[in-house]
Amino acid sequence: MTRPLPDALLSLPHRRDVPFARLTTLGVGGTCRWLFEPTTEAEAQVFVQTCAREGLPWRVLGGGSNLVVLGDVDTPVLRLALPREVRRQGTDLTAPASHGHIALAEAAAQASLSGLAFASGIPGSLGGAIRMNAGAHGSEWVDVLIRFRFLTPEGDLVERAPAPGDFAYRTSFLTGGHVVLSATAHLAEGDPAAIRAQMAELRGKRSASQPLTQRNAGCIFKNPTGQNAGRLIDLAGLKGLRVGDAEVSPQHANFLVNLGQASPAQFKELMDRVRAAVLEAHGVGLEPEVEIWA
Ligand SMILES: Cc1cc2nc3c(=O)[nH]c(=O)nc-3n(C[C@H](O)[C@H](O)[C@H](O)COP(=O)(O)OP(=O)(O)OC[C@H]3O[C@@H](n4cnc5c(N)ncnc54)[C@H](O)[C@@H]3O)c2cc1C
Repeated sequence: MTRPLPDALLSLPHRRDVPFARLTTLGVGGTCRWLFEPTTEAEAQVFVQTCAREGLPWRVLGGGSNLVVLGDVDTPVLRLALPREVRRQGTDLTAPASHGHIALAEAAAQASLSGLAFASGIPGSLGGAIRMNAGAHGSEWVDVLIRFRFLTPEGDLVERAPAPGDFAYRTSFLTGGHVVLSATAHLAEGDPAAIRAQMAELRGKRSASQPLTQRNAGCIFKNPTGQNAGRLIDLAGLKGLRVGDAEVSPQHANFLVNLGQASPAQFKELMDRVRAAVLEAHGVGLEPEVEIWA
């Protein structure tokens, strides 16, 4: 970044030159030049307000499980590091956005609360899950979300219930500079053994079909209307296709995995080759499901 950052930002907790390999589940990417890790909501607010006032572009990162980073990122990156406190009120559970998503599903089971089993196999942070309206097995966050706190792109703090139109399939209005700070799920009393059994069953299904022992970013391409991206890639004969250490998983064709040292260029080339081959074989243009940075 050529322009010096304002003192108000530099006074916040931050680290320099952190490899995205350590910040994403895929483990591919360049360097995060400026990683800001506020430990309070007030610090996060200072970050957003300062960037808004100075007209500085910035990004927000959660657990990096829906991201493919294809180069260095010079703009400041915000990654919340709020205390991991989970609060229970009746059958409602409130957690900070930086709480681990799978760990929150575990905490709900521990508290004999059912309704978050769907989350037990979705990695990343709670904030990323709310932003993405993450879901699986017929359930998604908007089904259980009753309140959430967020910063607007100007840095104003808002706490409210979800409104119609806030969330849709794997997306929400929380893009373009909004920052989720915390969320409250309305759950139901449940039997801990039954909840754990359900979570184990859902995880078993995942590990049977997904290459979870290899570094990945989940499904890379969106399912085109009425079709399945993984099936189209498989039918094009691409399972096992490799560019360096980037590979189309032989287990699940819509998972492009990092076998160890995949570079951004290798990963990009593999994505491009998959899209070109599917277009040629089926006449279908695949769109990324993951977010691509740089
Ligand atoms: C093995 C595997 C399986 C997966 N299975 C599923 C699945 O079944 N269902 C599903 O929905 N997803 C799935 N995913 C994708 C991913 O886990 C989810 O999208 C997850 O909710 C992303 O959360 P994250 O914290 O990792 O977000 P990141 O990847 O860090 O970021 C994703 C987006 O959210 C934004 N963001 C992050 N934190 C915040 C915040 N606090 N406020 C505002 N915006 C924020 C980022 O800017 C970015 O736009 C899977 C991924 C993997 C690796």
